[in-house]
Amino acid sequence: MHKKIVWAVLLAILPLSSGCTAYARREMMVAMDLHPLALERELGKELTEAQRKNVQEFDKEVMKEFKEADDPAAKARTEAIVARLLPFVHKKQLHPTVRILQSEQVNAFVAGGEYVYVFSQLLKEVENDDELAGILAHELGHVDAGHQSRSALPQLLGQVGALAIGAFSKNKDAGNMAAVGAVMMITAYSREHEREADILGTIDAYHAGYDPEGLIRFFKRSMKKDEEQKQKLESKLQEAKYEMESACGSTTIPEGSGDDRCRAAAQKYKKAKEEYDTFTLLRMPMFSTHPVDDERIRVVTTVTEYLRGQRAIDDVAEAPTVKKVLTVLNRFDNRKGAVVFLEEGRKYYAQQDWLAAEEQFKRALEVFPEYAEALTALADVHVQWGRYMQAEQEYQDAIKMDLGIWAAYAGLGKLYVQQERYKEAAPLLKQAVRGNDAGTFTTLGKCYLGLGNRSAAKQAFQKAIALDPGHAEAVDALSRL
Ligand SMILES: [Zn+2]
Repeated sequence: MHKKIVWAVLLAILPLSSGCTAYARREMMVAMDLHPLALERELGKELTEAQRKNVQEFDKEVMKEFKEADDPAAKARTEAIVARLLPFVHKKQLHPTVRILQSEQVNAFVAGGEYVYVFSQLLKEVENDDELAGILAHELGHVDAGHQSRSALPQLLGQVGALAIGAFSKNKDAGNMAAVGAVMMITAYSREHEREADILGTIDAYHAGYDPEGLIRFFKRSMKKDEEQKQKLESKLQEAKYEMESACGSTTIPEGSGDDRCRAAAQKYKKAKEEYDTFTLLRMPMFSTHPVDDERIRVVTTVTEYLRGQRAIDDVAEAPTVKKVLTVLNRFDNRKGAVVFLEEGRKYYAQQDWLAAEEQFKRALEVFPEYAEALTALADVHVQWGRYMQAEQEYQDAIKMDLGIWAAYAGLGKLYVQQERYKEAAPLLKQAVRGNDAGTFTTLGKCYLGLGNRSAAKQAFQKAIALDPGHAEAVDALSRL
């Protein structure tokens, strides 16, 4: 296997109450500050430049260590679930980039609400979208609550990486570590924060129409499976150890020494040990940072029952945090159903039933007035009807509500191009192409033509065709250039 330095931040394995943790913690707290989101939520701003830079640096380090999986279907699936959850995450300006990382680890983590990372193995092991949504909602819950994670960070790799490898290679063949050939990524939060993320995730998943208990089902099943597998590998290792001891008299003899029987036993022992170490390294992190204990199950079940109307809020006080969080979130309850209206409206819109679409979008806005996506959709309808002034105002309001809403930039940009207001349209469309939509690139191309920049227009049309080879308008416009 490819030799690679393994850095592992085994925070989860460090007992949180012991004295040595104080040291470990202090080190970890230097970690990237993902925290100020709570503050920004108050201010209604996006990440500051410094924070954003920090997150970008973090992403760069992650991408140095991991390869993105070439699996568009898995990416699209994850993106769709994240998109469905986002309207219910209270931090409105979240528009995270989803990255599927190639790894045998079963884990997912977030960086500052800018990135959602999911390991390919996790996607293989979830049985349905409810389970995946539960996990993603939990992760977004950490961001939403502004939890500071003690994560594996590049700046700390020198110290912590060495520490972790030291811990792992104690009394062991250090070669075992290289054999793992993979990098660990652990994001560790306090127990209290895990509970909060569970609560927020449960609520968000429920409102987005998923079964929030999927999270618990996935964890229970995976932990059971992993425990069984661990026991199997453990007894295999024990067996190989006895064999080697009886054949060689020890398990620490140098490689290649001893008679044939000893060498064979040593080989077998080494393999069993590698298998066991790899397994503990790759499989255990998520389950040790997120143990499914009775309390966790009770919290998720209680919140789910409350959401389903099977339990009164005063009856939820079993864990004080639950009540606290629920009270805070109660005022957001109105978002319930807004997404359903929006989706319904989009169906009508696609059928060009503008009247029915408008009604649904308005209903979405009634229950959740700050729903930028719904307001943008409503503006789209108004464009269809030629109510341009009204649409313009709605797009602008949507952008004020949510600076990251590319659909509103696209709609307004398109409207301006129609009105030959190219100078105003250009900056909007440049924002809007972040949505990677062929139609928007085509509009940007037309805008550049309006501004007399043929080469930029050509590029935009080419980009549109790359995204959607059958985009007739772009193909036609390009052929005329
Ligand atoms: Zn967590």
